[in-house]
Amino acid sequence: MPVKGTGEYDDTNIFARILRGEIPCRKVHEDQWSLAFHDINPQAPTHVLVIPKARYISWADFSARAGEAEIAGFVRAVGQVARDLGLEEPGYRLLANIGEHAGQEVPHLHVHLFAGRGLGPMLAR
Ligand code: AMP
Repeated sequence: MPVKGTGEYDDTNIFARILRGEIPCRKVHEDQWSLAFHDINPQAPTHVLVIPKARYISWADFSARAGEAEIAGFVRAVGQVARDLGLEEPGYRLLANIGEHAGQEVPHLHVHLFAGRGLGPMLAR
């Protein structure tokens, strides 16, 4: 039974190409499970993307198929990036766009990390 929110992974998406080293990124963290790099079009003074290295489209896909170590590795990487960048105080925002209504542009799971100024309300009014 396929998991809703999953589908055929597109190996030509931009993050797959970054992971293969075909296009550059401004890396901030890499480990066995995850890669983090600066967003090319930052929406805040600090805007970093954290992605799992394996081929996952969405949160549904990742949470259904990834192994325990992989999930733990990814979650720890998000926390480590925030700590390494010194963002605990005065804080930061995590955000993941999943699917059409969220405006997900790149079909490889990614968590945005925003920081460096007051970030305003959670959603545009
Ligand atoms: P989303 O709308 O959540 O799918 O976000 C995709 C994000 O990827 C956007 O914030 C883009 O600015 C960012 N992005 C697209 N191409 C690149 C790239 N080559 N390097 C870094 N970030 C990128």
